[in-house]
Amino acid sequence: MKYYILFGPPGAGKGTQAMAMAQKFNLCHVSTGELLRAEISAGTELGLRAAALINDGKLVPDEVVEGMIASRFASVKNVDGFLLDGFPRTLKQAEALDELLDEDGEVVTAVVSIMIPDSMIVERIQGRAMKEGRADDASLATIQNRIDTYHAQTEPLIAYYKARGKYREVDGTGAIEDVREAIFKKLV
Ligand code: AMP
Repeated sequence: MKYYILFGPPGAGKGTQAMAMAQKFNLCHVSTGELLRAEISAGTELGLRAAALINDGKLVPDEVVEGMIASRFASVKNVDGFLLDGFPRTLKQAEALDELLDEDGEVVTAVVSIMIPDSMIVERIQGRAMKEGRADDASLATIQNRIDTYHAQTEPLIAYYKARGKYREVDGTGAIEDVREAIFKKLV
């Protein structure tokens, strides 16, 4: 099985690129952000607790998303692998993922990082807010918190995966098709 991680700051285009990658390589796309938004829409207790954190630009507890990933791995069949989008986001999650995969004799195949500068994040997310109507895209303060959260808690994963020889980076500032081609080149 292949286990790809799609990495990058908020607004880099992970969700957009994930769909094409999942289709091309027959991967199950798992977005923890989407799973959490589904819980919020369904009005579950987990969703209610997560909404406050998400709308504040903070991360939900590691155990919550780790559980979501584990249950996906256990239940999804007939795919050649998984494409994780928005997970892991902390070192603890990365370690939990390694342990989970190790139980099945598996490893992370590669991390594909889509990079855009901070100056582009706000512009991209504000553009998306009009189309997708995400609550956490609507407020500038929330966007800024997400950027801060990314730098403080998620960026250290770059060194984690570099040290393991898994890290590959593409420039995410170009057109969607160009970024897609750059990603595909990194995956062959
Ligand atoms: P995303 O759709 O990936 O931008 O995620 C939206 C929000 O969901 C994030 O800003 C976090 O509050 C929360 N979230 C998504 N994935 C994770 C994760 N792996 N760990 C903690 N919080 C997450």
